[in-house]
Amino acid sequence: MITLANYIGGQLVPPTSGQYLDSFEPATGQPFAHVPASDTADVEAAVAAARTAFPGWAATPAPERGRLLVRIAELIERDLDRLAHAESQDNGKPVAVARQVDIPRAAANLRFFGTAIEHFATEAHWMEGREVLNYTVRRPWGVAACISPWNLPLYLFTWKIAPALAAGNCVVAKPSEITPYTAFLLSELCVEAGLPAGVLNIVHGTGPDVGAPLCAHPQVPIISFTGGTATGRAIAQSAAPMFKKLSLELGGKNPTLVFADCDLPHTVREVVRAAFSNQGQICLCGSRILVEAAIYDRFKAAFLQEVAALTIGDPQDAATRQGALVSETHMRKVLSYIALAQEEGGTILTGGQQLTIPGRCAEGWFVAPTVIEGLGPECRVNQEEIFGPVVTLMPFESEAEALSIANSTDYGLASSVWTQDLTRAHRVAHELQMGIVWLNCWMLRDLRTPFGGTKQSGVGREGGLEALRFFTEAKNVCLQL
Ligand code: NAD
Repeated sequence: MITLANYIGGQLVPPTSGQYLDSFEPATGQPFAHVPASDTADVEAAVAAARTAFPGWAATPAPERGRLLVRIAELIERDLDRLAHAESQDNGKPVAVARQVDIPRAAANLRFFGTAIEHFATEAHWMEGREVLNYTVRRPWGVAACISPWNLPLYLFTWKIAPALAAGNCVVAKPSEITPYTAFLLSELCVEAGLPAGVLNIVHGTGPDVGAPLCAHPQVPIISFTGGTATGRAIAQSAAPMFKKLSLELGGKNPTLVFADCDLPHTVREVVRAAFSNQGQICLCGSRILVEAAIYDRFKAAFLQEVAALTIGDPQDAATRQGALVSETHMRKVLSYIALAQEEGGTILTGGQQLTIPGRCAEGWFVAPTVIEGLGPECRVNQEEIFGPVVTLMPFESEAEALSIANSTDYGLASSVWTQDLTRAHRVAHELQMGIVWLNCWMLRDLRTPFGGTKQSGVGREGGLEALRFFTEAKNVCLQL
């Protein structure tokens, strides 16, 4: 068993209470690490360390702050293999996915914001005929809270902390207690990189014991959160009386719109990837697949064939493309939605059950990629986020019907549209009530673009320089000449 530590004031320290949680390897169902069960005392220590470090960090020239972030990115790249295996062990995702997506993108976040800060400028506005100059001063807020989920652990963790630090804030960050391992390894890399003490603090523990007191802390004026919609709502409620600045990146129930004129082989391949990557545990996964009736049967046959070819197995095996679900609790939730789909009148076309992988992973939390048809758009299975390898197929007759089904949930995170008709692609993109629309592609990310959802998928689109604006407070200075 490995014992993880908090990272507070530049030191790797045990939790004040001396208590630990077990962290499990989803592929085997066995505990492999002790995670600090921190509480308010550790949050207080971390906020105090961040406050002490803040004046020095805010006064550090932006290129030097950026250089340190880029140095951490280099160390992540140096340790790519080790981090990818750690992420796979902690999360259940295939090591190939961690190696190709999570870890390189974590380094990219730090590089992007570490260099972006050098290009970050403020504005000046000259009032014609009045001889008045306005200019904007942007200053970091102070101590920022960054809270991340378990599905893309290091990637989403760095997505929050990199812009906060680049902009000159000090950070108290809480990774998910379900997948704490790579955040712990990151804290070791920060020590090695020479990040000044207290600039970044990482406190491990549960949402109620660490996340809630951190968000409610009066000395923390800004919160960047990624996670479930219910948690986001609770954070917004606790933050509202103190008028804290909030970015909430929340859940989704993303539609995939397949039109009859799509490039079918390419579409099928990519729609399967959009549906089942990371076992369907990416907030951007397309789980409601709407297919124009004219090609529904052809699409279904090709789709099921492609799903059957997914290699499910030990996530640590380089050939595996589908790993384990993150926890037993989550697996039970996913299986309960499959049972609900049957109660609601759905037909399971493939999958539908827990899988046993012989050998080392015999006790692991695996669920077969599951495809369901015959459910109306209003069914709970088509309205609620399942966040697992479960998708539904629904036929549609017209573009208007496709849009109406696509927009029928409370969520508005992401969508993809598959058609060769360029005019329709853009028309549909404009009508979809989602923060992100991919046309004939999925999950291509340019870090300069706004990211996030509408409706109950979140508020505060962060991306590129907008993220740096979010993490700085603007003041207008007005001078009459
Ligand atoms: P979650 O909301 O349960 O937990 C997220 C984080 O919040 C964890 O670190 C958790 O410990 C913490 N937390 C829990 N209660 C808290 C509280 N009261 N105050 C402060 N922090 C608290 O989410 P999860 O199960 O870890 O992640 C899955 C969810 O995240 C899904 O809904 C998924 O769609 C969403 N997600 C969204 C995006 C996005 O960019 N929109 C990206 C990834 C995941």
